[in-house]
Amino acid sequence: MKTIIERGEKALLHTYNRYQIVLDHGKGVYLYDKDGKEYLDFVSGIAVFALGYHYKDFDDALKAQIDKLLHTSNYYYNEPAVEAAEKIKKISGMDRVFFTNSGAEAVEGAIKAARKYAYLKDGSTEHEIIAMEHSFHGRTLGALAVTGNPKYREAFYPTDNGVVFAQMNDLESVKALINEKTCAIMFETVQGEGGIYPADPSFIKEVRALCDEKDILLILDEIQCGMGRTGSFYAWQQYGVKPDIMTTAKALGGGVPVGAFLMTEKVGQNSLVAGDHGTTYGGNPFATAAICKMIDLYEENNIIGHVNEIAPYLEEKLNELVKKHDYVELRRGMGLMQGLVCKGPVGDIIKKAHERGLILINAGSDIIRFVPSLIIEKEHVDKMAEILDGILSEQ
Ligand SMILES: *Cc1c(COP(=O)(O)O)cnc(C)c1O
Repeated sequence: MKTIIERGEKALLHTYNRYQIVLDHGKGVYLYDKDGKEYLDFVSGIAVFALGYHYKDFDDALKAQIDKLLHTSNYYYNEPAVEAAEKIKKISGMDRVFFTNSGAEAVEGAIKAARKYAYLKDGSTEHEIIAMEHSFHGRTLGALAVTGNPKYREAFYPTDNGVVFAQMNDLESVKALINEKTCAIMFETVQGEGGIYPADPSFIKEVRALCDEKDILLILDEIQCGMGRTGSFYAWQQYGVKPDIMTTAKALGGGVPVGAFLMTEKVGQNSLVAGDHGTTYGGNPFATAAICKMIDLYEENNIIGHVNEIAPYLEEKLNELVKKHDYVELRRGMGLMQGLVCKGPVGDIIKKAHERGLILINAGSDIIRFVPSLIIEKEHVDKMAEILDGILSEQ
């Protein structure tokens, strides 16, 4: 592993402080490094491998599509893309789908659709989006514009780019920013990177009502919390509200890079038209065949039912760690998207976990984030809790 790491240090741009591990292959909820060491994985490639590693039916579907056609461009139709769009419509209740290659690109498209919708209404180019502090929407310039973390934005932006920031779950802070220029209010239904903050039911409902009253679009980013992670296909489905535009990615392709932004028919008919938006790779038959198979497998194996069964057990085990260890302040989260908020940095805890064969990740400096595969069983939760308990006991 050492030589690969040394070569990587010379060839890759230093945008990540990578852990000193070279991952080689995976099976189920386990990963193996180049030296053959086994790790129980509670990160799943950051909420990506919802069905774990090398789910046979999924791999077979990908291989079959490789043998047919990988790419067509969007000047033609391809069947997997049409089928994937229909399936996403069905699980989300949204009406129109645009496929992208990543989460950030889905966010870009969502922003463009909202701005175009407002532009068509009044011809103004001065519209504002209200986003949230501590949000994370991706690293491209458009997605960064709505990301409420100065650390990520500072070097790349003039201060005024038509985005203002409110506080998540603080309706008054949203109201204070609304004016005639506001075209959209945007947030993650459950903030991920920013610290695992689920939206309060009252907040999301009242923002929805405000949006309806003023014809402002509600954009929900479900890139991390979507695809069954919180116990429904999309987290907002548990709140009794519906967004006008939403984004999905990460687990959508089960490891194949793909995302999408979706909208209601009303927004679809009154925003982006031919020539307004495009992508070379987005919606290619390989990536969309992956989406089709993922959604089929969710349904065939009642993956969401399993999440609802196993998540309370994970919560219970994490609650025990909160009770037992002074260093852990509280647990927060929804379904299989959980955070343990600690009283200080968690970097060393995560490194020790790696040493002991457990893959964990942080969210911010003080929070341990749990976004495992959705197929984890009680025995995996037990094993994770036991290793973490051992580490916290030495804290
Ligand atoms: C990961 C993430 C993104 C960005 O997705 P990429 O595929 O990394 O571009 C956007 N929004 C949320 C909520 C995310 O978790």
